[in-house]
Amino acid sequence: MERKKIIIGNWKMYKNIEETQFFLNEFNKLLKTKTIKYDYGIAASFTNLPLLKMNKTSALIIAAQNCHYETEGAYTGEISIKMLKDMMVSHVIIGHSERRMYFNEVDETINKKLHSLFNANIIPILCCGETLNQYENKKTNEVIKNQIKLALKNIKAENIAKLVIAYEPIWAIGTGKIATAQQAQTVCKMIREFISELYNKNVAEQVRIQYGGSVKPDNIKLILSEPDIDGALVGGASLVPQSFFDLLI
Ligand code: PEP
Repeated sequence: MERKKIIIGNWKMYKNIEETQFFLNEFNKLLKTKTIKYDYGIAASFTNLPLLKMNKTSALIIAAQNCHYETEGAYTGEISIKMLKDMMVSHVIIGHSERRMYFNEVDETINKKLHSLFNANIIPILCCGETLNQYENKKTNEVIKNQIKLALKNIKAENIAKLVIAYEPIWAIGTGKIATAQQAQTVCKMIREFISELYNKNVAEQVRIQYGGSVKPDNIKLILSEPDIDGALVGGASLVPQSFFDLLI
């Protein structure tokens, strides 16, 4: 089946209001020059979400980079899904390697967040990926299957069809070192087969699997030409209006 490709810019902890407004002004001008055939969006920091909402063109997906799994409560410094929904957030990145690495994000909380997001009709972008050491020791498949299995514990098949999975080898994030299209395709295919084992073939054919790790305008075409790669999660190259736009055309 034909899966629509989805490209999401992950802005991490970059851009204040002024910088975001500049980006949106420029990007919206560029959007008028060509028709975009992919789904696309930006995962901005929480303070920039109102601006994205105000400047939203109809197609822009507004995404967040994290959320809490509880509805509300005494969780200083956290943000609820209800608060994100006020900002027209439709997708949330969950389990990014930087959150796993620096903020103790573990598979169990990732699983709870996925349950809460699906209950709220928000699409999670579930990140998985191996470290350089694991890659060199040929542990990629084992590590990723384990991350996915734990993240998807007790998630229903009907939700999996809506899910976006981002395969992001940690050794390729922000390093300029990109996995070859063939390497990325091999892992994305393995992920699809694993979803088929966990659920069924029909669901596996619907889940969208992105590649992430130093994707740039000059290498995205090759990556997207692979049959099991349904888009990209992009950090650095999504920060500049022209470069983000070039990823989409
Ligand atoms: C990311 O932040 O998910 C990412 C892939 O970053 P970069 O494109 O900069 O490697």
